[in-house]
Amino acid sequence: MKACIITIGNEILKGKTVNTNFTEIGRMLYFSGYDVYRGMIVPDVKEEIGNAFRSLAGLCDVIVSSGGLGPTFDDITVASFGEEFKIPLVLDKETLLTIKRITERRGVEMTKEREKMALIPEGSTLIANEVGTAPGIEYQKESTIIFMLPGVPVEMRSMLKQIESKIKLKDSFYAENSILIQGIYEATLAPYVTELMNKHKGKVYIKSHPMINKGGESALEVEVSAKSEMLETSKSTVAEVLREIRSIEKKIKS
Ligand code: ATP
Ligand code: MG
Repeated sequence: MKACIITIGNEILKGKTVNTNFTEIGRMLYFSGYDVYRGMIVPDVKEEIGNAFRSLAGLCDVIVSSGGLGPTFDDITVASFGEEFKIPLVLDKETLLTIKRITERRGVEMTKEREKMALIPEGSTLIANEVGTAPGIEYQKESTIIFMLPGVPVEMRSMLKQIESKIKLKDSFYAENSILIQGIYEATLAPYVTELMNKHKGKVYIKSHPMINKGGESALEVEVSAKSEMLETSKSTVAEVLREIRSIEKKIKS
């Protein structure tokens, strides 16, 4: 099953905000058994947001977006989505009540901007915001489930947990682990990695991440990942390949 991620916000494109939401969403999706097929970063521009949803909706089983659910002028994810797919926005009474309760508690005014956070695409299901104000949105668009989450990481994270149990695949389990190898260059290990990848064709993915130690000695983090129908199988495949890599390390060093 394929999943795609859209992160929305000028601040990400200009490098002011590190796209940690992407990382967290990607990890959740991978560990839920999906292949993350594509990730898009788009600015706070209606057409761009709409295009992103449209171009990915036909490609992926699941789309998770983050950003643009708040009260400011540039928070236009829901409006862009609605406009792109011609889905009318409706005022969700319960959300409006929650917003009213929050504004009263904070002693602030109920404004149009605050009210905007209660506008949702008709036919959507809400994801509770346990941390902030704007709810997340779940919308089934033909065979694609779309989740729109807020940009604020702590809010995004709490919703990610809620959707995880819902979308976790029951027949696809991802596992990964890594080892550290010191004193061997990446290029020296490379042919062995190719050989192992061929030996376990399609079953594992091996990735070496070169690092420089404090002393200047070369070091590699070698990461092995696998996906299968059983978690135990994925884990044991990863462990087996890591053992093979350890013995290759010994062979090279002997
Ligand atoms: P708010 O209610 O605060 O307006 P929102 O859903 O509208 O939330 P944004 O306005 O898009 O979200 O982003 C709010 C803040 O969250 C940003 O200023 C930024 O610091 C952070 N943020 C947004 N997107 C990301 C991201 N992809 N990764 C990490 N942090 C992010
Ligand atoms: Mg905002």
